[in-house]
Amino acid sequence: MAVQVFVPVQKFRFLPAVAASVAKYNSPTVQVAGRLARVPALAGVVCDATLTAAADPDILAAGDIASWPHPLAGAELVRVEHWTVAAEHGMLAGRNALLDPAERRPHELPPYFWSDQYEVKIQAVGFPARAHQLEILESSPDGDRFVAAGARDGRLVGVIAFNAAKRLAWYRRQLAGRPGYDEVCDAVLADEKALGARVAAR
Ligand SMILES: Cc1cc2nc3c(=O)[nH]c(=O)nc-3n(C[C@H](O)[C@H](O)[C@H](O)COP(=O)(O)OP(=O)(O)OC[C@H]3O[C@@H](n4cnc5c(N)ncnc54)[C@H](O)[C@@H]3O)c2cc1C
Repeated sequence: MAVQVFVPVQKFRFLPAVAASVAKYNSPTVQVAGRLARVPALAGVVCDATLTAAADPDILAAGDIASWPHPLAGAELVRVEHWTVAAEHGMLAGRNALLDPAERRPHELPPYFWSDQYEVKIQAVGFPARAHQLEILESSPDGDRFVAAGARDGRLVGVIAFNAAKRLAWYRRQLAGRPGYDEVCDAVLADEKALGARVAAR
């Protein structure tokens, strides 16, 4: 998926996705390419929370190329290669490009990813790879559907679901509130809509 944003405003240069794709009506793309060459790119394009390149406030990055501090990752820089994040980034970066830097909004949504592998729908939200501890919190009796949750420093940081799409929305909302992990476990235990008994021992 290529994110394309066209900003017909003279002062802006917009960086969509992997490449600098610029739609200034009266400026050559090469001008932005030259500025882009001065933006450090080892970790992608390093941005602030508003997807504005740290090296140049007139350049915004979106999608796989963007590296930005995420609150769910303790404000550490993250780079996420997910379709949905690229789409969210494109919309936010496009809006932010129209604003002065001080008025730009951050990207704080928990990253979401899905992949259909034959009969299994795998979904992940947040940053499960950053978890220090990962355990299955709920499972169908046959074990075909389950949700595993990841914790770090006592807080929920990521969730992985196998064939449990209906349950993922609940965890997604939880993640947005940066809850304590024990709090989430207790809520799952009390939730009648949960898939079934918690599997992992604490
Ligand atoms: C095999 C594969 C499977 C994947 N499966 C999943 C999945 O199941 N779920 C999921 O969420 N994500 C998946 N992803 C990741 C997902 O595809 C990416 O996160 C997403 O496409 C990133 O969007 P983007 O716009 O940042 O970059 P891209 O989609 O890579 O778009 C970048 C665009 O820039 C163009 N471009 C590059 N260089 C230049 C240049 N110099 N000048 C002009 N244009 C240029 C490219 O042609 C491309 O069109 C998968 C990726 C791969 C490779």
